[in-house]
Amino acid sequence: MLARTTSVTGQTSASGLLANKAVVLFGPPGSGKGTQSKFLVAHFGIPQISTGDMLRDHIARRDAIGLAIEARMKAGSLVPDELVNDLVRERVAQPDCRDGFILDGYPRTRQQAEVLMRLLGELKRAEVVIHLAVDYNIIIARISGRRVCPKCGTLYNSSTRPSRIPGICDLDGVSLVVREDDREEVVRERLEAYEEQTRPLIEYFRETGRRLIEVDASEGSPETVFGKILEQLQKPA
Ligand code: ADP
Repeated sequence: MLARTTSVTGQTSASGLLANKAVVLFGPPGSGKGTQSKFLVAHFGIPQISTGDMLRDHIARRDAIGLAIEARMKAGSLVPDELVNDLVRERVAQPDCRDGFILDGYPRTRQQAEVLMRLLGELKRAEVVIHLAVDYNIIIARISGRRVCPKCGTLYNSSTRPSRIPGICDLDGVSLVVREDDREEVVRERLEAYEEQTRPLIEYFRETGRRLIEVDASEGSPETVFGKILEQLQKPA
């Protein structure tokens, strides 16, 4: 049994299983990386770093980075490696990342993976890569039912996580929208980018002896998938 400390809220502190770790959540668009990240944040108390959210934030602010990447993101293509590498390097240096952090959607290319591994070496952090494997047809069905609240960013899904009133955010009553890059032709482009540039990283992680946890995320509720992640994390590395 591995040592871990559990607070009254049921939260396992980062001094336990993920102490000082960099968790890399890895999987195709629609595999539930964002949802599982939120569970990990709640359970282990370490922050989520979503490069997708950071980039969308720049676009929303219409700053120089946002203007430079807007067209690529809307088309479902990846943005340049140097840009995301710099964003992540800056973000992980923040004090809230002291006890560990969760990378959601990074790295996505071989170049990003190599830069990250060097960075983790400098920071003296071990990584745990969690690969969420999902069947292609399920991904298409999931993404087409996805809606987001334009105000608070909460994600809903008509089949797996419906809002109480269809089309309306439970939290603030705002009408839900389809995320720009969830449109069908853009989803196809995102899946292609994943197949060509990101999926080959599984081999890279294997070849370089990184700890890789494989979880079948095709079936079951998000909570069930999270249960499988916890189970794997508790096994000795
Ligand atoms: P998903 O995983 O569902 O595609 P994300 O929010 O993670 O959603 O990413 C949305 C978009 O943000 C991607 O299609 C890409 O344009 C951009 N993006 C996010 N992370 C990266 C990254 N690490 N490298 C390059 N582009 C990225």
